[in-house]
Amino acid sequence: TVRTRFAPSPTGYLHVGGARTALFSYLHARKHGGQFVLRIEDTDLERSTAESVNAILEGMTWLGLDYDEGPFYQTQRFDRYNAVIEELLEKGLAYRCDCPKERLDELRDSQMAQRLKPRYDGRCRQREVDPSEPHVIRFRNPTDGVIVINDLIRGRVPFSNTELDDLIIRRSDGSPTYNLTVVVDDADMGITHVIRGDDHLNNTPRQVNILRALGHEPPSYAHVPMILGDDGARLSKRHGAVSVIAYREAGFLPEALLNYLVRLGWSHGDEEIFSLQEMIELFDIADVNRAASSFNTEKLAWLNQHYIQHGDPKRIAQLLRPHMGRIGIDPSEGPDLTAVVEAQAARAKTLVELAEISAFCYRDFDDYDAAAAKKHLRLAAREGLERLRAAFELMAYEDWTPQGLHHVVEHVAEELGVNLGKVAQPLRVAIVGRAASPGIDVTLHLVGKDATLRRIAKALA
Ligand code: GLU
Repeated sequence: TVRTRFAPSPTGYLHVGGARTALFSYLHARKHGGQFVLRIEDTDLERSTAESVNAILEGMTWLGLDYDEGPFYQTQRFDRYNAVIEELLEKGLAYRCDCPKERLDELRDSQMAQRLKPRYDGRCRQREVDPSEPHVIRFRNPTDGVIVINDLIRGRVPFSNTELDDLIIRRSDGSPTYNLTVVVDDADMGITHVIRGDDHLNNTPRQVNILRALGHEPPSYAHVPMILGDDGARLSKRHGAVSVIAYREAGFLPEALLNYLVRLGWSHGDEEIFSLQEMIELFDIADVNRAASSFNTEKLAWLNQHYIQHGDPKRIAQLLRPHMGRIGIDPSEGPDLTAVVEAQAARAKTLVELAEISAFCYRDFDDYDAAAAKKHLRLAAREGLERLRAAFELMAYEDWTPQGLHHVVEHVAEELGVNLGKVAQPLRVAIVGRAASPGIDVTLHLVGKDATLRRIAKALA
C-alpha cells in the first residue's frame, strides 16, 4: 500500500511551498487509498522551536490535510538512529573520523582553488580512531557505480558515486544528521513515495546509498519544483505573505488556498476549480510540471472570491465572524450574518474585505466616500431623500422587508417622475457611505429602520 509523508523542519511557519508539498503527498496517498504520515524533523535543536511545531500543526489543520499517523518527532528517535549508526559501524559501512577542522578547511580551500567540488578525501577510511576522543562518524559511500533516480516528476536523474563523498552521519556532539535520520525514518515508517521539494534532489543519491547499505530498497521519489515570486526569484517573505496562517489572517479560505496550490505546477485540462475530493480523484504526481511555477496573488484572490461567492453562506459567516470582531463588530448585535454574506458575497475577494464592506450593517460609518458624496448627495437629491424619509417613517417594523422597501423606493421615484436609480443612488450613499452595496431593498432591510432614518437625517443635515 502507498505511504507518503510530509517531513517539515520546525524552524519557521508553514509556508505555501511546504503546504503544496504536503498537499501533493496527501493527495497521492488518498488517491491510492494509502496513508499519509506527518513527521517533524526537529533534530536541529538550535533552530527548531515549539512555536514552529504548533504553527505547522495549525496550518495543516486549517487546510484540512489530515494525517493518518503522527506527528512523529525525530528527537524522540535518537536511540533508534544511534542503533543504526552502530550497526553501520560494525559492518564497516561507516567509520570514525577525527580529521581536525583545520585540515578539512585546508582541503576544501585547495579543492576550490582547483575548481573542484569540495569533498572529503577519505583520509580516515582505513585509520583506527580512538572512540573516546572527539570524532564524527562518516558513511562509507561506494566509490564507483552510478545511482539512477527514476524521479516521478523529473524522469531519469543519474548520479555518479565519484561525485559523492563520505557523508557525516553523526556529528561530534553525538547527534545524527539529516540524511541518516530521513533514511531510517522513511524505511521504518514504510514510506513508499517520497514527495518533497527539489532542493533535496542532490541528497537523494546519498540517501539511496545509505538505504541500500541498510538492506532496503529505496522508495519512489518525486521532487517538486520550487515556487517563484512574480520577479522570478524563489518565493520568500520579500514577496509578501508566504505563511499559510498569514493567508488565513488575510481572509483567505482554506479551500481557495488548496485549490490554488494544487494548480501550482499541476493542471487538468482547462479546469480551474477543484474541490478536495476532485483533487483526490484527478491528481497524478506524474503530471506535475518539471518547471518552476510562479505564485500569482491575483489568481489566488480570484479563486478566493469564487469560494466566498459559491460556498455555503452559513460556513462563510462562521469564518467571517473573527474578521468582524477584529474591526470591532459583534455580529450578534445586528442583522443575521448569514444574510449579510448572502447579500455581499459577490463583492469581496477576501473575508477581510467582506468584513469591511459589511460593517455598515452593524454600525454607522464615519465618513462618506468623497467621490460618491459629491456625485450623489447634491442639492437635487434632497427632495427624494425627504420623501423617502417620510415614507419610511410611516412603515411598520414588520413591513420592513426587501419587498415592502422596494415598493416604497419605486413609488417615490414614480412620484418624482425619475428613474429608480436617481432615487436609489443618493439613498445608498446616505445609508452605506459609498456608491456600492447590494440591491437597495436588501441594503435597507439589513440596516434596519432606525439606522436608515438616522443616516438619512445625517445626509440631510
Ligand atoms: N525536513 C526536510 C525539510 O524540511 C524535508 C526532508 C524530506 O522531505 O526528505 O526540508
